[in-house]
Amino acid sequence: MKVTVVGAGISGLATAFAVQQGARQLGLDVTLEVFEKNDRPGGKIRSEKVDGYLCEWGPNGFLDSKPMTLDLCYEADMAAQLLRSSDAARKRFIYDGDCLQRVPESALDFFRSPLVSWPGKLRLAAELGVPRRKDGTDETLADFVRRRLGREALDQLVGPMASGIFAGDPETMSLRSCFPRIYELEQQYGGLIRALLLLARQKRLERRAGKAVAGAGGPGGILTSFAGGIQQLTDGLARHLNGSLRLGDAIVSILPSKEGFTLRTKGGRIYETEVLVSAVPAMVLASQVESFAAGMAEQLRQIPYAPLHVACFGYRREAVPGGMDGFGYLAARGSGLHSLGTLWSSSIFPGRSPEGHVLLRTMFGGATRPESANLSDGEVQQRVQEDLRRTMNIGQQPDFVKIIRHKAAIPQYVSGHGARLRVLEDSVQAYPGMVLVGNAFYGVGLNDCVAAAQRAAKRVLALLQKRS
Ligand SMILES: Cc1cc2nc3c(=O)[nH]c(=O)nc-3n(C[C@H](O)[C@H](O)[C@H](O)COP(=O)(O)OP(=O)(O)OC[C@H]3O[C@@H](n4cnc5c(N)ncnc54)[C@H](O)[C@@H]3O)c2cc1C
Repeated sequence: MKVTVVGAGISGLATAFAVQQGARQLGLDVTLEVFEKNDRPGGKIRSEKVDGYLCEWGPNGFLDSKPMTLDLCYEADMAAQLLRSSDAARKRFIYDGDCLQRVPESALDFFRSPLVSWPGKLRLAAELGVPRRKDGTDETLADFVRRRLGREALDQLVGPMASGIFAGDPETMSLRSCFPRIYELEQQYGGLIRALLLLARQKRLERRAGKAVAGAGGPGGILTSFAGGIQQLTDGLARHLNGSLRLGDAIVSILPSKEGFTLRTKGGRIYETEVLVSAVPAMVLASQVESFAAGMAEQLRQIPYAPLHVACFGYRREAVPGGMDGFGYLAARGSGLHSLGTLWSSSIFPGRSPEGHVLLRTMFGGATRPESANLSDGEVQQRVQEDLRRTMNIGQQPDFVKIIRHKAAIPQYVSGHGARLRVLEDSVQAYPGMVLVGNAFYGVGLNDCVAAAQRAAKRVLALLQKRS
């Protein structure tokens, strides 16, 4: 039987790998093909070494607080090569318009921190008295935070986090789709502070009872990658799939057929497949299916994507007066910066810059500033330099500059995303043998993509077993 995966980003590769492994274990005879438009696998994942600097085009790692990607590394024999971020990288900062403020890591730190004013702290503590919202509305992140924690918490803490993870706009992001755990905490415990207190108590009791308690790296986990960059993950998966990968072969259209689906490549070749896994961005799938599934295409087109530029700057160590002891910083809402924030890449992982030099990675654009997609490289560089002067007092010209542009970087789960997914899932039901995966649907983090890939592979294997 034939299984075809379209798109070789982490979602497509992890699905194909899990199908390959599962089929072997179940003794199923499967011909697997993975079509990828580009001449390299990995999609948004790309680690490029230039002049001794290791530049990550997209993600710089995954968090070990969830098991999905870690488990995948073990299954694909890559665990021995994993690299954990340095302890210093636990220190994160927020630029509040004036200076870099350390993100508090405990309740005590929070009450001492100048990041939120005393009235802001009192408002936050008043969360204990805010009733649970029960009307089932798909609330935006901004509305939720203003309602429960107050405006300052949104501007100083949650807004920067939303741009750090999603390059998103909290005013339009769906709380339930972007941060389902936070939504659940309110629903289950009646509030966030109450939930934190109860969960901390539960952990203490479990520890006392001698049970292993997860989360050595704290709730956020430890950022994990490889010495050669996160691309080692997708390269490793691609090696396992070597005979199945069709690189530089874009699929332009899909048509349902008697046996399954007929795929047409850009070069005009035709392929038949019984099971089809789509792992391409939503608007690409929309154009592939619109001739026979206009409704599905319409839903897919309504998932917006934010543009994002990544500016990698290299400096001699002495050019950074305050040093780079930490993970980097995100910009508070209203801080006046052009950029969303800067990661101190060479402090997070060793080997990211030549000896005596440092590497910074600034994010620029996102859902709140889509117009920045039109700036020239020179304009991006000038604005990033202005920001680095304000935030880190770096006055010198960088020794190394590389600007990476993602026109459609990260899908945005805007309010209504959950309802849209349900409509999409219903329309896919009409085409047995079609499985959707990819970061447009169930989470944008690498762990989410891998978890969705594993669910997709299970569905594929179930279909194969039914038909064999
Ligand atoms: C700048 C940036 C920083 C990020 N940082 C982090 C981070 O630190 N940690 C984290 O967990 N996540 C991070 N993310 C998110 C994460 O990288 C992505 O969500 C994830 O890599 C998406 O994988 P994917 O396979 O779903 O999609 P993609 O990587 O977009 O893969 C889709 C693939 O489909 C291919 N394709 C498109 N059209 C066709 C066609 N017609 N035929 C065949 N193939 C086609 C594409 O070429 C591509 O290879 C970041 C994302 C960006 C952009």
